[in-house]
Amino acid sequence: MWHALVIKSVYTLGDLRNWENVISLRQLPIRFGVLGDPVAHSLSPQMQNAALKQAKIYAQYARFEIRAAELKAALELMQTLGFWGANLTVPHKVAALRFVDELDGSAARAGAINTLVFEADQMRGFNTDGVGASRAIAEEFSRGLREFRVLLLGAGGAARAIASQCLEEGVAHLGIWSRTHAAVQQLGKELAAREGNVSIEVIAPDRDALFVAAGNAELIINATPVGLRADDQPLLMREAFTKRHFVYDTVYQPSSTRLIEEAKAAGASTANGVSMLLHQGAEAFSLWIRRPAPLETMREALRRSASS
Ligand code: NAP
Repeated sequence: MWHALVIKSVYTLGDLRNWENVISLRQLPIRFGVLGDPVAHSLSPQMQNAALKQAKIYAQYARFEIRAAELKAALELMQTLGFWGANLTVPHKVAALRFVDELDGSAARAGAINTLVFEADQMRGFNTDGVGASRAIAEEFSRGLREFRVLLLGAGGAARAIASQCLEEGVAHLGIWSRTHAAVQQLGKELAAREGNVSIEVIAPDRDALFVAAGNAELIINATPVGLRADDQPLLMREAFTKRHFVYDTVYQPSSTRLIEEAKAAGASTANGVSMLLHQGAEAFSLWIRRPAPLETMREALRRSASS
């Protein structure tokens, strides 16, 4: 339907190549998108479109299923087609470092990009995941990141951004664990090279070491995709948790993961990643639109989409 005002659930690189035939001049122009593979589950369009509408910005935000090998072509097309901004998710956050013209400190320190700003002649890369996680944790647990001894699970894009934020805020202690030890050793080396007094512990890749590290931590953050599938075995079971633990799972679909269930059963305080999604998205919005994001509108849009 050429005159449809609705947008497709997911666009592709083929659509970007054929953009003038894919979009209708009668629809709100698509100026923003999230690029990932998979991406169909992303709630960013609901959240960002509610914010754009509230701010009376004549533009909309869509999903783009872009494979790893397609990223460069997709970004070049978006810039040529007059897009204003984009978010990146798995598997593009680290790969995109090679394609931007300018890297903000947040992305350089994290070694990953989750937000792009397209300008007339350049593409700028930012990372809002770290600040998003920090604001989410403060909101969920009424305590700032720096007040915790932190154990971080994972060494990928999200974990890197959160680890970087932990250093920026000066947490007392940061333990990092990943099943691939080389990745977490590399991250540990990069973090140790930065200035500051944070004690950084690279934890051995076995479950016993992880169990001991959980006992030494107050806040445990899952920044792996473990939990996305209902049959995923959690990285820590209830014996690892006590009432004094705070457990933040960056996974937000399903809304309660097995990790959260295990932690809750031990009496720990828990929260899922929807609050991080909200705050990283609000920060991205204000980078694009250069004004504060309508946070409560975005929160309500997420609440509605998560329960529908
Ligand atoms: P990524 O760059 O692919 O990194 C994934 C990390 O998880 C890697 O360290 C990987 O280790 C580890 N991992 C993967 N499968 C594992 C398994 N079965 N057991 C143990 N570790 C495993 O992905 P990302 O961008 O960091 O995203 C990770 C997750 O964070 C996403 O799935 C999403 O749920 C969540 N996230 C949430 C938000 C939010 O706003 N709530 C934002 C960003 C990300 P290997 O190197 O060994 O594969």
